Amino acid sequence: PFDSSKLQVFGNAAAGHDGVLSDESGAIVVKPCTAAEISFYETVASSHPDLLPHLPIFMGQLSLDSASDVSEDTGTIQTSDGTTERLHGKKLATDLHIVLENITHGFKKPNILDLKLGAQLWDDNAKPEKRARLDKVSAETTSGSLGFRIAGMRTWLGASPPEVPEELREYVELDKEGGYWAYNKMYGRKFSAEDIDEGFNAFFPQKSEAEKARAREVLAYFLGEVKDIQEVFEAKESRMYSASILLVYEGDVDEYENTKKVLRSARPETEDEEDEDETVPKLAAAKLIDFAHATFVAGKGPDENALKGMRSTATILKRLLDKAEKDA
Ligand code: ADP
Ligand code: MN
Repeated sequence: PFDSSKLQVFGNAAAGHDGVLSDESGAIVVKPCTAAEISFYETVASSHPDLLPHLPIFMGQLSLDSASDVSEDTGTIQTSDGTTERLHGKKLATDLHIVLENITHGFKKPNILDLKLGAQLWDDNAKPEKRARLDKVSAETTSGSLGFRIAGMRTWLGASPPEVPEELREYVELDKEGGYWAYNKMYGRKFSAEDIDEGFNAFFPQKSEAEKARAREVLAYFLGEVKDIQEVFEAKESRMYSASILLVYEGDVDEYENTKKVLRSARPETEDEEDEDETVPKLAAAKLIDFAHATFVAGKGPDENALKGMRSTATILKRLLDKAEKDA
C-alpha cells in the first residue's frame, strides 16, 4: 500500500505521453493506461509465465482522478518544416492507471533508450486519420525499413555535462543539474537504416577505456536479452502495436564498476534473511513495455510486425558488439 497523494512526476521517462508518476521510493511507476494494457498484463500473468522475466512486474491498477494530477505539460518544438510538434504525447484523458515495477530503479544514473516496435503502429481500433498519420511517420523513418525506431533516449554525461552542439539542439535538451542529455522524439526520426548505428552509438558515450569495456559488456547483455525476447514471441500469437523495448544501463561508469564488485561479492541470501526494502544495484536491464495496443490472438500465428523490429535490433547490437570487440 502507498499514499497516492505522494506520487510525483517520473523523471526518467525516455519517451511517450506525459503523466507517468512514481512513488517516493522510486520502486514503482504509475502510468495512465488503456484497459487493453491492464488486460494484456493480466493475460500474461494467467497464461504466459514465460513472458514474465521480460516485462516489468505488474502490480495492479489504480483510479486516480485528474484533480490529483501533479504532472505538467512539457511543451512543444518547432520542427524544421515549420510545424509545431508536441515533445511528448498529451497525457491520456483517463483515470485508469497501471502500477508497474520501475525498470530504472536500482540505477544511480540510468541511461535509457526506448525502441518503438512495428512498421504498422496502429491497431484495428484506430481511426483512418490516425492510421494515415502513423503510416506516414513509419514510411519516413526506420519504423518502415527496420521495423523499429528510436522513440526517445536519455544519457548521463557526468556532473558537468557538455553543452549540446548546434546541430543537435533541435533534438536534445540539456539537463545541467541532472547531468543528462534528453533526446526528444524527433531525434530517432531522422535516421535511416544506413545511419541508425549513430543513434545507438550516442547511447554509449565512450571516451575512456572503462566506458569502452562497459559498452562491450552491456551490448553483449542487451543482445542476449533481445534474442530471448524475440524467441519467446516467435512462439506466441500476439499482436503488439507500438510496444517498446526499453534498454537501461548504469550511466555512471564508476558506479558501474562498483556495482560489479558488489554483485560479485554478494552471497546468495536465504529467503528469510532477505531485506525486502533493500534496493539491489543494477548494471543493465532490457524489458518490453507499453502494451496500450497489445492483445493475444489465438490462431493467427506470430507477430511478424513486432518481430521484425526485434530482429533488426538484435542485428544492430551484434554489429556494434563485433566492432567494439575488434577495436578492443
Ligand atoms: P506511452 O508511450 O503510451 O506514453 P509507455 O509505457 O511507453 O507509454 O511509457 C512512456 C515512457 O515511460 C517510456 O518511454 C519509459 O521511458 C517510461 N516507462 C514506462 N514504463 C516504465 C517502467 N515500468 N519502468 C521504467 N520506465 C517506464
Ligand atoms: Mn511508449
